[in-house]
Amino acid sequence: MCKGTLFVVSAPSGAGKTSLVKALRKGMDGFTVSVSHTTRAPRPGEKDGRDYRFVDRAEFERMIAAGEFLEHARVFDNHYGTARATVEAALEQGGDVLLEIDWQGARQVRTLLPDSVSVFILPPSLAALEQRLTGRGQDDPGTIARRMGDAISEMSHYGEYDYLVVNDDFAVALRELRAIVIAHRMRRARQAERHRDLIAGLLKAS
Ligand code: 5GP
Repeated sequence: MCKGTLFVVSAPSGAGKTSLVKALRKGMDGFTVSVSHTTRAPRPGEKDGRDYRFVDRAEFERMIAAGEFLEHARVFDNHYGTARATVEAALEQGGDVLLEIDWQGARQVRTLLPDSVSVFILPPSLAALEQRLTGRGQDDPGTIARRMGDAISEMSHYGEYDYLVVNDDFAVALRELRAIVIAHRMRRARQAERHRDLIAGLLKAS
């Protein structure tokens, strides 16, 4: 069984990463989107097990000590981590896995799995970013101002990623993201494994 590809997607808060990933997943098979663990409180409308696995600090620390995280990081004032087991099982079965994580986690994943593919999503402008953060209506102005600072700091790591997508027009950004995934699925090593019998048959007469 050929191994799947691990895709890592990062973006500053408000760049539209979650909506893009949701749309990408809808139109494509063979994807597992990892549900992260976090110590932050759920926002209105968020569901445990769907958006995040909401855990307390003690459980998060236990998971770190037990080596259950593929990567983990402190982002803003909270802790976030990707559970190792689900990701590794899906990859072993040949499925692709997508992680929505910050630059610190992306760095850890790159070291652990050099074959992973990383994509950074940029907003079209700071004004658009601020508007999207405000439009969410979930945070107070002080939090928004701080998140703008955090966003700029997150964006300063764009150079560590394999691909850059600017989310100006959603449909275009989605198409670009999809193209990255398709290109990686078409890589020779993976295709050769998937189409082993076909290739053997094609070369038989020579
Ligand atoms: P939010 O709290 O707004 O959902 O996410 C805040 C930040 O945490 C985002 O940049 C998001 O990508 C990042 N994040 C979410 N899950 C994980 C994770 O499992 N690991 C790491 N390193 N970052 C994460």
